[in-house]
Amino acid sequence: MNAYEPSRRVLVTGGAGFLGSHLCERLLADGHEVLCVDNFYTGRRANIAHLLDNPRFEVLRHDITFPLYVEVDQIYNLACPASPVHYQFDPVQTTKTSVHGAINMLGLAKRVKARIFQASTSEVYGDPHVHPQTEGYWGHVNPIGLRSCYDEGKRCAETLFMDYRRQHGVSIRVARIFNTYGPRMHPNDGRVVSNFIMQALTGQPITVYGDGHQTRAFCYVDDMVGAFVRFMDSDDDLCGPINLGNPQEMSMLAIARQVIELTGSQSGIEFRPLPSDDPVQRCPDISLARSALGWEPRVSLEEGLSRTIAYFAQRVGTNPPSYRPREAQPSMGRVRA
Ligand code: NAD
Ligand code: UDP
Ligand code: UDP
Repeated sequence: MNAYEPSRRVLVTGGAGFLGSHLCERLLADGHEVLCVDNFYTGRRANIAHLLDNPRFEVLRHDITFPLYVEVDQIYNLACPASPVHYQFDPVQTTKTSVHGAINMLGLAKRVKARIFQASTSEVYGDPHVHPQTEGYWGHVNPIGLRSCYDEGKRCAETLFMDYRRQHGVSIRVARIFNTYGPRMHPNDGRVVSNFIMQALTGQPITVYGDGHQTRAFCYVDDMVGAFVRFMDSDDDLCGPINLGNPQEMSMLAIARQVIELTGSQSGIEFRPLPSDDPVQRCPDISLARSALGWEPRVSLEEGLSRTIAYFAQRVGTNPPSYRPREAQPSMGRVRA
């Protein structure tokens, strides 16, 4: 925050989760007051424990599918389980969180005239037929499959955001977030980066689903949170949707090999069946983010993975990995929870 920018009261829903906890940390560092609202469905107190002593930080246990009456200047709506294992565990609740939660947070934004950011997702593109994905692509989504509670919930939330803007003049920011990883990911959430690192560190086989040729593009959490803040504070006509992610596309086999190399693990690779509706190829076109926000990711996969491996190694109490690139060292002090 520069000297001319006022401190704001910022609500972060899902603030005890992986991305939310990093965002709360960043907003506090920028001088704002932060109200973290979370029902601790997938979030953990440990993620925000280091923030509790800060007098500008407050936590409220609350489920956003119920109304919330608070006074704030900005809202980041991140509440929603993000890993397929978690969002498929109670799919009806997942849809309620995306849809009822969006209605409540938009109603709140409308009443208090707050700008509101929506954590949408690359899953709105489904199993895409356009590659890389641009914001103009409408997607290829199964409306009745196992992933639909998440994909369609997030699509409906985007509709609500656009309609609250058109109908009620609410100031919105809709970000389509592509796969993001880093410290404080839940070790058992089943996402690929956390799975592979935990397996490598504990000597278990690395579970590659399908033939491992499906692709994703992975963005390090600090880059992503930087984009959130930049987008939130951008000019009013830039409502999105906007793709945020790292356009370095990789196969799951390649990432398995990189995790094995960086951890120095003896684990082998084990192939497992591909989950249903698993997208074959995914990579963001971030031209809009580059031109409109002047943003692009800076942390390389090797550096980001090394920081994430250090975090998980500390959690499971293993020795630090035998190999770490030198440039990753100074940032390791940030890993606290
Ligand atoms: P996460 O599961 O770590 O965090 C989600 C948080 O929301 C948790 O703290 C959880 O307890 C909370 N929550 C869930 N339902 C809630 C409810 N009804 N009321 C209040 N709190 C609730 O996941 P994450 O990776 O931090 O994802 C954060 C947001 O970003 C999600 O909306 C997700 O869809 C979106 N996103 C994440 C990624 C990614 O790669 N991490 C990619 C695309 C989109
Ligand atoms: N809402 C909320 N906090 C507020 C204002 C509204 O949680 O500060 C909820 C409210 O419960 C409502 C929803 O947001 O169901 C949508 O509000 P809106 O004003 O758009 O619609 P209405 O109240 O007319 O249904
Ligand atoms: N995946 C895998 N092994 C695992 C977990 C996931 O091969 O142990 C694959 C999964 O099938 C998908 C990719 O990794 O193709 C990314 O999965 P993740 O659940 O992390 O994210 P999403 O599918 O939502 O992009």
